[in-house]
Amino acid sequence: MNDFDAIIIGSGIGGLVSAGILTSGGLKTLVIEKHIAPGGYISSFKRKGFVFDSAVDCISGVAPGGLIHRALELLGVNSDINFIKVDPIRVSIFPDIEIRVDADVNAYMDRLASLFPSEAKGVKKFFQKISSAYEDLQFLIGISVSDGFNPGVTTPDIFRLMDRSYEELLNDYFTDKRLKAVLSDRCPFIGLPPSQVSAVAMVSLMMSYFKLGAYRPEGCFQKLADVFVEGIRKNGGMVFFGSGVKKIILDEGGRCRGVICDNNEEYSARHVISNADFNQTFSSLLGGEYLSVAEDMIRSPGISTSFFILYAGIKGDISGQSSIGYFPSYEMEDFFMPDMSFREDTTIGVTIASLEDKSRAPEGCSTAVFHEMTEASSAVLDKAACTEKTLKKAEKIFPGFKDKIEVLDAATPQTLQRYTGNFNGSAFGWRQIPGRRGTKKHGIGNMRIAGHWGDMGSGVLAAAYSGARAAVEILAEEGIKVAI
Ligand SMILES: Cc1cc2nc3c(=O)[nH]c(=O)nc-3n(C[C@H](O)[C@H](O)[C@H](O)COP(=O)(O)OP(=O)(O)OC[C@H]3O[C@@H](n4cnc5c(N)ncnc54)[C@H](O)[C@@H]3O)c2cc1C
Repeated sequence: MNDFDAIIIGSGIGGLVSAGILTSGGLKTLVIEKHIAPGGYISSFKRKGFVFDSAVDCISGVAPGGLIHRALELLGVNSDINFIKVDPIRVSIFPDIEIRVDADVNAYMDRLASLFPSEAKGVKKFFQKISSAYEDLQFLIGISVSDGFNPGVTTPDIFRLMDRSYEELLNDYFTDKRLKAVLSDRCPFIGLPPSQVSAVAMVSLMMSYFKLGAYRPEGCFQKLADVFVEGIRKNGGMVFFGSGVKKIILDEGGRCRGVICDNNEEYSARHVISNADFNQTFSSLLGGEYLSVAEDMIRSPGISTSFFILYAGIKGDISGQSSIGYFPSYEMEDFFMPDMSFREDTTIGVTIASLEDKSRAPEGCSTAVFHEMTEASSAVLDKAACTEKTLKKAEKIFPGFKDKIEVLDAATPQTLQRYTGNFNGSAFGWRQIPGRRGTKKHGIGNMRIAGHWGDMGSGVLAAAYSGARAAVEILAEEGIKVAI
């Protein structure tokens, strides 16, 4: 009864995709989630009739042709959820221009070329370059989730970008500082400035939204996690909530034998996937000689930034677009300095999901979620003070906002850590810096990492890819082929 083919620790998107693929491949699969509900960062909550996504703004990969869609399809639950397309993907407000990031990349290129006519040729060449690099990346990812990852296979465009920063890439094509800032408006989605973020990470982030679309589940992000759980159970898998894994048990040969939960239940399996935070996996779930695996990675590449998140339910409508980046200057690098958090002259992101999805707020009301980048840290932030500072920025973007507030809640990096286990509230796992070559080898043959602490990058789609790869590798070892 307590014996499984595979155990997945955690039900973030990486764990759910792993479990979905393994279950659809016929393996006896168990997901163990410490929280009372699935999803990790794709969870949601309700306050007085308002529905808020805990973290995420929008994602790609959920339309036909996308990995998350495919995983739901394998479980037979893809028609149990609807996704709303976000178009424009974002609106970026700079001091003297407001730029729509059109879902159609050609429309976006035309917009940039007409705003910056002297850079029109560069715009065309830049997008040719990043489109071709993205195709290379898709080719590599395709190999990794079908035949197992082969790091020896590298295609030219992506190979040339691997050791470069996004700033270096921009400098190849543009001289206008304002345009470079505009094209860096999605850096907060990775938490690093153009000079530090890997060009590959930015190409992947930007192009995945253009190629696969930006979406939110109708209702809320929690729906996506819930539909995965429904599909996993429908296909014979098991999902347990409310008691996390406290120990991964190794046999004398150093292979995983199973896990022990906080409620002291023990489960055994031939394969273990950890979707839990990397530091926790190696320092407390494994411990001993594995401590250094986490320590080395935390030293380099280090962990990503976090967010202070303010959730507001307000009376009345908010006009405009549902995903907003507010940039009070073109000094993109400055926004990422540690001491710049909460200052009035720094960037902030806003999601107004109720604009496109009325089910998220009572009639005549709206939701607005503000994302203030801040360091991932164990320092305890003063929630009330941070809320006040964030509201000042809200007033700048939406004058009169404060007077309309019906509901207000907030999450600090410590809140994020408490709910999801992510170390110091890290939003995206590892820092996506140039030259990153995957996670440190741990040598446990039947244990894999799934999610944004794996090798596939940051964000929901990358975490999903990491989960898919772990599952496909296990199925290959078991002699089972599932077409992803
Ligand atoms: C504020 C914010 C905004 C973001 N916006 C976007 C966005 O717009 N688009 C995008 O693509 N990405 C966004 N991201 C990033 C994205 O949400 C994450 O990269 C992704 O969701 C991580 O998924 P994951 O599978 O790695 O696991 P997580 O979501 O971290 O989930 C891990 C799960 O494991 C569970 N767990 C941990 N320890 C244990 C244990 N010991 N036993 C059992 N269970 C355990 C946790 O409870 C959790 O459910 C955002 C992140 C944040 C914080």
